[in-house]
Amino acid sequence: MSGLQDAIPPARPVIGEAEIEAAVRVLRSGMVVQGPEVAAFEAEFGEIVGGRHCVAVNSGTSALQLSLMALGFGPGDEIIVPSFSFAASANAVRLVGATPVFADIEAGSFCLDPDAVAAAITPRTVAIMPVHLYGHPAAMDRIMQIAGQHSLAVVEDAAQAHAAALNGTPVGSFGAAGCFSFYPTKNMHSLEGGMISTGDAGLARTLRLLRNQGMEARYQNEIVGANMRMTDVAAAIGRVQLGQLEGWTEQRRANAAYFDANLTGVVVPPVSEGARHVYHQYTIRVQGDRDAFQAGLKELGIGNAVYYPTPIHELRPYLNEDGQVGDWKLPETDRAAREVVSLPVFPSLTQEQLERIVESVNTVAARA
Ligand SMILES: *Cc1c(COP(=O)(O)O)cnc(C)c1O
Repeated sequence: MSGLQDAIPPARPVIGEAEIEAAVRVLRSGMVVQGPEVAAFEAEFGEIVGGRHCVAVNSGTSALQLSLMALGFGPGDEIIVPSFSFAASANAVRLVGATPVFADIEAGSFCLDPDAVAAAITPRTVAIMPVHLYGHPAAMDRIMQIAGQHSLAVVEDAAQAHAAALNGTPVGSFGAAGCFSFYPTKNMHSLEGGMISTGDAGLARTLRLLRNQGMEARYQNEIVGANMRMTDVAAAIGRVQLGQLEGWTEQRRANAAYFDANLTGVVVPPVSEGARHVYHQYTIRVQGDRDAFQAGLKELGIGNAVYYPTPIHELRPYLNEDGQVGDWKLPETDRAAREVVSLPVFPSLTQEQLERIVESVNTVAARA
């Protein structure tokens, strides 16, 4: 019934004919480095972040790192981040020489808990980096309020949350900078790529300088910069994908609604009031034996994955000097890392596949 042949993968990046044609068109033009396609992609992406300035870069990690550099953060500065995220969130902090301070998450949204953020603030804190994990917007209303009270910058890690919103305000338009990823498995991609959104024209200019050796005019270097440019080939692919994003997002949300209504024996992902969840992942909690649950699903041909089995504070680069896990108090982070499983929710799932996923999850959950 469910041989390898019709196994459902956990994710299915799209590289369609339109993407291939766009890439070929740019390749044939011979002008492949950052140029008119990048400029057009930036302008078009601005429309999903409330008309903010957008600066394209070569990855989501570069977007985070460049934002922190542009804001002037470095050694001695503390930046509050969730430990329950992809390592890139904390890596960006360390790459500029600053110190990540891990705060716990909310049980419901899997995103930073504003109370935990407030409790983590010290005289050295300079910024908060909420991650809109799995496509659910973090509690930006309260986080912006806390940041305002303490004069802290907010850098949003929106790598998983293109077009997510809270009370109608899109992610990437709350903080000083919003950082998106266009890695193939994200809700839209450009092969590799990233985007920074900002409401501050001065910061946008600094970001443009930093991504290109500190130059606006060629060989008139103004500051020390990196090379984090996006190619025009990547931008052309990103533009095609951006044109599909709204339809894909609605399909992800419809798939999630079907799961919400039909899954039994597992905890379906809660959605905060006012949140537009874009379901980069559809992540359930399994309270029994998760290994057995995952193996059972795999046997039935249902791809699934754990994001993330090890919280960042337990990864080697984030251990204490003596190699031990630091003295963090992150009970919801630890619990999520033990319980979560993400199911396939990508837009091209068929009704038959959705039904098979539901049947399989319910069967395996009943056994546990
Ligand atoms: C994917 C991702 C990143 C990094 O993006 P890349 O484009 O892979 O560099 C950062 N943060 C989170 C939460 C991500 O999921």
